[in-house]
Amino acid sequence: MPELPEVETIARDLRPHLTGARIGAVRIHKSDVLRNAKPAAFARALAGRRIAEVARRAKHLVLLLDDGLRLVIQPRMTGSLTIARRQRPDPYAVLDVLLDGGRHLVYRDVRRLGVILLLPPESWAAYTARIGPEPLASGFTAARFGRALGGGRLAVKKALMDQRRVAGVGNIYANEALWIARIDPSRPVAGLRAPEFARLHRAVRDVLRRAVAGRGTTVRDYRTGTGGAGGFQSRLAVYGRAGEPCLRCGRHVALTHAIDGRATYFCPWCQS
Ligand SMILES: [Zn+2]
Repeated sequence: MPELPEVETIARDLRPHLTGARIGAVRIHKSDVLRNAKPAAFARALAGRRIAEVARRAKHLVLLLDDGLRLVIQPRMTGSLTIARRQRPDPYAVLDVLLDGGRHLVYRDVRRLGVILLLPPESWAAYTARIGPEPLASGFTAARFGRALGGGRLAVKKALMDQRRVAGVGNIYANEALWIARIDPSRPVAGLRAPEFARLHRAVRDVLRRAVAGRGTTVRDYRTGTGGAGGFQSRLAVYGRAGEPCLRCGRHVALTHAIDGRATYFCPWCQS
């Protein structure tokens, strides 16, 4: 559930604490989120390393270590990352990384649907190559967006959420962007005309930028890197507003699960 704006917020909150920090002891309380390393090897690889850079790619937080390894964390659904001044008993703590100065980087995840990877440079290159372009990057033009979404019978909402096509957009911001662009989420992506691609391109970038500025959307579990709720949930235009008046035309917002099994909120009158 944390999408681009939420993980970007976490990265920005953690960056001043983590950049340049030396990793001490690593405690792994629950190892099922580790995807490509055994706990002991994982802890050994991290201990003593310095964190060179804190970045985000798509919905992943990426910590580049001084030996070129990357610690990649995708806090799906119920995962959160915060800095703690001391170790506290927490049944949902998954990973506890002691940093110099006595602080802890804590990953907690109630349902443990998140993913933690430790990747050498060549594995990272292959991993990131499978993800689509970053929608807030300066080179992400309307033409690039059109090429990334591709054609075919796939519903435009599904194409927008496909991480191989465009990075970082999930269910909340796909709903919002399609409402802003006045496009029916169920339409086949091949049927969109050039002005509609241009509107959707603008809408995606606009809503993601505003959500980053608002520190992300907390509907249920998302927490920022300082442990608080995001601020964008009060500014959602259509997500979660089934039956309420459309903010543009005043008629009722509809809800369907027929497109991709997820909740799709849309205005049947002004999204065509
Ligand atoms: Zn409407």
